Amino acid sequence: MDKSLDFLMNHNHEQFVYRHDRETGLRALIAVHNTTLGPGLGGTRLWHYDSLSDAALDVLRLSEGMTYKAAVAGLPLGGGKSVIMADGREKDPVVRRERFEAFGRFVQDIAGRYIAAEDVGTKPTDMVSIRHYTRHVVGLPPDEGGSGDPSPMTAFGVLQGIRALVEEVMERDDLKGVRVAVQGLGKVGLALAQSLVEAGAVVTGTDVFPGARDLATKHDIRFVEADAIYDVPCDIFAPCALGAVINDATIPRLSCSIIAGSANNQLEHERHGDVLHDQGIVYAVDYVINSGGLINVATEIEGYDEAKARARTAEIYSTIKRLQALSHMEGISTVRAAHMMAEAALQGKEMVPA
Ligand code: NAD
Repeated sequence: MDKSLDFLMNHNHEQFVYRHDRETGLRALIAVHNTTLGPGLGGTRLWHYDSLSDAALDVLRLSEGMTYKAAVAGLPLGGGKSVIMADGREKDPVVRRERFEAFGRFVQDIAGRYIAAEDVGTKPTDMVSIRHYTRHVVGLPPDEGGSGDPSPMTAFGVLQGIRALVEEVMERDDLKGVRVAVQGLGKVGLALAQSLVEAGAVVTGTDVFPGARDLATKHDIRFVEADAIYDVPCDIFAPCALGAVINDATIPRLSCSIIAGSANNQLEHERHGDVLHDQGIVYAVDYVINSGGLINVATEIEGYDEAKARARTAEIYSTIKRLQALSHMEGISTVRAAHMMAEAALQGKEMVPA
């Protein structure tokens, strides 16, 4: 069986739909994984895929991840995701707008079981095109009532998770002198590094863009070349760039007791969660600690209110504490504990009071 159909059969998705719009050339897929807690909210990814099967596998995997992310964040939302297959013609702004409008009609057909949002390859203006045909879209520009760039909220959420783990693991209630290595000084990484510096942490950072060293220096961040970040003596390693950076090659190089950053899919394989646990490194599971962006955009559904989004994002602090407590109590990795928390939320139960 095709690998994407195999995945579909084995991961309990509720709905999986393909749309080809002949007039605009749109080819898109929507996957709704689980709507137990609410409609499946997840970004619309515009990406060049080698085959429909590759696109299908991507959207199916991503939609399942959204179920767990929303469930652990305590949001009344399920898991969904969509992909639009890029073919180059969308570089023409008219074709792009028409395709996103066609996509809006596709989302409307799913009748509110899926809510679209910005993702890799898409912009707030694309969400406006979608909005012409459906209410079921968030991530609009601020002047259209949207929540804007989610990165500051994501960084704020990661900081809350770091505070929780510094208390639990290092038995410290402030960040003064805590050594943090930040991989990636992009939108989230730089905002996080700045907050850490403000809180008195000693921050080392890296990035690959020209001028990264100067930017770091300007913000009192010590700079190292990209590959050296794994060898920096530190208490916390904060991956804020790429996925799969926690792997067999990098784990032996890390000196930290905590891994807490915004990057998606930080572990190369799920088993690396067990490797970290066995080595006494506490991993703040990516989809738990980086949910500030999702919480921010989800607030748009009821009318965006930044204070409300911030208060909800601050709850990542107690969620991370519950995650660590469950991992400790059950003697399991935080990856497994997060999965248990998500399954419990899907069954309407609460795991481990804070
Ligand atoms: P970004 O593109 O602004 O920043 C990523 C940075 O990583 C870039 O500056 C890039 O040059 C750098 N980078 C790339 N390769 C690198 C390498 N080998 N070593 C060091 N740096 C490298 O993206 P972002 O919005 O800051 O997101 C960072 C991560 O967090 C991504 O994995 C993203 O998926 C995830 N994330 C972001 C949000 C959000 O709200 N922006 C929410 C959830 C998850």
